[in-house]
Amino acid sequence: MDLIIGSHVSYTKDEGLVGSVKETLSYGANTFMFYTGAPQNTARFPIDNEKTKEAQKLMKENNIDINNVVVHAPYIVNLANDKDEDKWNFAVNFLINELKRTASFGVDKVVLHPGSHVGLGPLKAIDNIAKGLNIILSEKEGPAILLETMAGKGTEVGKTFEEIKQIIDKVDNKNRIKVCLDTCHINDAGYDVKNFDKVLEEFDKVIGLDKLACIHINDSKNVINAHKDRHENFGFGTLGFETLIKVIYHEKLKEVPKILETPYISMTSDGKDRTYPPYKFEIAMIKEKKLNKNLYEDIRNFYK
Ligand code: FE
Ligand code: FE
Ligand code: ZN
Repeated sequence: MDLIIGSHVSYTKDEGLVGSVKETLSYGANTFMFYTGAPQNTARFPIDNEKTKEAQKLMKENNIDINNVVVHAPYIVNLANDKDEDKWNFAVNFLINELKRTASFGVDKVVLHPGSHVGLGPLKAIDNIAKGLNIILSEKEGPAILLETMAGKGTEVGKTFEEIKQIIDKVDNKNRIKVCLDTCHINDAGYDVKNFDKVLEEFDKVIGLDKLACIHINDSKNVINAHKDRHENFGFGTLGFETLIKVIYHEKLKEVPKILETPYISMTSDGKDRTYPPYKFEIAMIKEKKLNKNLYEDIRNFYK
């Protein structure tokens, strides 16, 4: 089976899913992840179903298996905090709609940050998250929610496999609850990604490998256990090229989609500061299994 590799891509009102697929193809990728609107807010516009049909056709023609495609929920929804009841209810309703939107694309995975406890403590937060998920996932069928492993920045919940497992244990509809592992986040949370076999063993022991449905591939700007969450380009951070290649080509993870969320590269052109996606060049390195020391120059030359 081929390597399943892709990146975060944009999704716009005008281009719909067709734009996302075209961007994916331009990177030489065979899967992708997108937000159904802005990552940082919950404003959502209606989906153009004609564009979705066209996108699904384009995916088929180019061997993109829609079962490997992932939606990411906006990171401001916080199921962990129920201090403001209206806000918590809004988050629950938003996610119910987000799952419907996801299903209308034919996609069956939504990555979700478990949330931040903002002083309530992880135990109460885990209860709140599970309570919300049990409402959101009350229908037997539908897309799965993938809880993402977090860096432990601020009061983030889900910084250990144990916390993720505690949430899963409280969710009734087990078929619709899975996990997304983020290599930058687990490094920042204190897991030794350089010893990845051991990390996977631990994941399997605590959560179960069968629950692992997506991997976010990111290098980290910070040392292990920094609790920072700052992504770095592939091979240019504290994890390094060999470590991330080992994760990507791991025997036990062949069927798990790998998604890059590495930072855009900044460049000044015509006196304006712009940023450009690194994915085409990072995916090329991954396929060749060889570090491109000129990554930044190559990206700037390509987009200038
Ligand atoms: Fe995320
Ligand atoms: Fe991530
Ligand atoms: Zn992150």
